[in-house]
Amino acid sequence: MRAAVVAEFGAPATVEEREVPRPGSGQVLVRLEACGLCHTDIHAMRGDWPAKPNLPLTPGHEGVGIIEGLGEGVTTREIGQRVAMPWLGHACGECRYCVDGRENLCEKQYNNGYGVPGGYAEYMLADARFAVPVPDGISPLDAAPLTCAGVTTYAAIKNARVTPGETVAVFGVGGLGHLAVQYARLVGAKVVAVDVTQEKLDLATDLGADHVVNAELADPVKAINEWGGADVAVVLAVAPSVFRQAFDSLNRGGRLVLVSLPAHGEITLPIFETVLKGISVIGSIVGTRQDLVEVFDLHAAGRTRVIAETRDLDRVNDSVEEVLSGTVPARLVFTYHTADLMRPPTGS
Ligand code: ZN
Ligand code: ZN
Repeated sequence: MRAAVVAEFGAPATVEEREVPRPGSGQVLVRLEACGLCHTDIHAMRGDWPAKPNLPLTPGHEGVGIIEGLGEGVTTREIGQRVAMPWLGHACGECRYCVDGRENLCEKQYNNGYGVPGGYAEYMLADARFAVPVPDGISPLDAAPLTCAGVTTYAAIKNARVTPGETVAVFGVGGLGHLAVQYARLVGAKVVAVDVTQEKLDLATDLGADHVVNAELADPVKAINEWGGADVAVVLAVAPSVFRQAFDSLNRGGRLVLVSLPAHGEITLPIFETVLKGISVIGSIVGTRQDLVEVFDLHAAGRTRVIAETRDLDRVNDSVEEVLSGTVPARLVFTYHTADLMRPPTGS
């Protein structure tokens, strides 16, 4: 099988021929059909964050594919079933976070494409319980971006407890932002989208944003405040200035929701305004399996649209450059169609 491998932080990925792995106890072997390229993968490949991924690294936490092998003891998944392998590759199931419905905060979790090999490969192993079934009617190309970009923004909107009639400002209309706009609309909010490229703002309008601000041409704080201010500001961009802009665009009682993870990020907020305006600051990390089930459900019901383009895995480094240059409409998704698919995997 082909797999993209990063041997050293900051080095380009190489696409190598690897043995198809064998599923261990509790695992499934999945023949991948698609895997999205999330900005997190780029941080992982560079070792940008305090918690480093294991090397050699095969990134990818938007993998979607068909189960071809079952490890010992797996009874809840079937050969031939389509599943998604999100960031949350495993959680313990017993800690206070797992038990009270916040498995995304489990301290014993491991993450696909970070702690264990991910979806930039033609096959991967997954903990069967964390391989989330993809309903019929959702294509792998749509399911892949929903598996991180979708669930992450869906959970962000849920965590901000947005109510109908509130205004949500979405800072950054990319892979995550184009879905955030739609989830904010689905809960009844008015949506203002902020970005620095007109194409992305046009996309946001097309997906239901009520108002857009081009931050290259106008001060987003002024523009949003003139439009009535934001009750919730979701930060999906990584430029440091955006965090303060998002804070300054909030109304009283507003919630600042931090989602994007710049390489070296700190924010400084004025205590006086935070207290007097009753502002909440919320960190929101991916979502639970149940969140992903709901994301898929909404998509199957026709409530969301995924904007993505496909790339071949051999172009992994070019694809990273494309994402960094900001020229990608929303999401890039690697798709896998090779002679490999005709060979039975060794693990089944
Ligand atoms: Zn991601
Ligand atoms: Zn746990």
